[in-house]
Amino acid sequence: MGKTITIAIDGPAGAGKSTLARRLAERLGYLYIDTGAMYRAVALWAKRLGIGWDDAARLEQLARESRIELGAGGRVVLNGEDVSEAIREPDISEGASRVSAIPGVRRALVEKQQQMGREASVVMEGRDIGTVVFPQAEVKIYLDATPEERARRRLKDLAARGLPAEFAQVLEEMKRRDERDSTRADSPLRQAPDAVYVDSTGMTEDEVEQALLKIVRERTSNGKEVTN
Ligand code: C5P
Repeated sequence: MGKTITIAIDGPAGAGKSTLARRLAERLGYLYIDTGAMYRAVALWAKRLGIGWDDAARLEQLARESRIELGAGGRVVLNGEDVSEAIREPDISEGASRVSAIPGVRRALVEKQQQMGREASVVMEGRDIGTVVFPQAEVKIYLDATPEERARRRLKDLAARGLPAEFAQVLEEMKRRDERDSTRADSPLRQAPDAVYVDSTGMTEDEVEQALLKIVRERTSNGKEVTN
C-alpha cells in the first residue's frame, strides 16, 4: 500500500469541524473519521447499561469491547446497531465529555483511531488528533469560532433535528464542556504548535472549505506528501 495522508482537525464544540471535515474528505476521496462520535458511543452504551460516567474501570472495559464503525454519510454503528441519532442527544454530549476525561477510555479509543489512520488516508476530527493521536499528521488545522457563534450554530443544528433549545442554555452547556475538555489532565483540547489556526467566525461553510483546501494543497500535492 502507498503512503497514507492524515489531515487532523481539532477545535472546540460547534466550531464546524464535523461539517468541514466531512466536506474535505468527500472532496479529497479520504475517509472521514469523527472521533467525538466514538466517545459519544461509549457514553451511550454506559447509559443504557446503567454504568456511571465516572466509573473508570467499567468504562475502560466498555471502550475496549466496543465495536464502533464509522460509515458513509457520517453513520455511526455501535456493536451492530445504528446509533447515529441517539448519540446526538444533549445528555450524551455531556456524557461524552465526562467519559473522555478517563485515561483508560482515551487509550482504548486512541488505539482504534490510530489503526484507522494507518489503513487509509483520513480526515480525522476531534480534540487531540494533532497533539496525541497523530502528532506526525501531514496537515493540522485548529478550527475555532467565538462561543456565541458556536452556540448559534449548535442551536440551528438542534432546531433542524426538531430539538428546539434556549440560546443561553446552549451557550452555557457549551462553555462548560469546553472548560472540561481544555482543563482535563489527559490530552486536553489545545492547539498543536504546528497547526494552522482558522477562525471561522462570520465565514460561510463554503469560505471555510476553501480556506481549508488551500491549507491542504500547500502541504500535499495530488494526495502525495510534499517533501520540501
Ligand atoms: O466532537 P464532539 O462534540 O462530538 O465530541 C464529544 C465530546 O467527546 C467532546 O466534548 C470531548 O469531550 C470528547 N472528545 C475528546 N477527544 C476527541 C473527540 C471528542 O475528548 N478526539
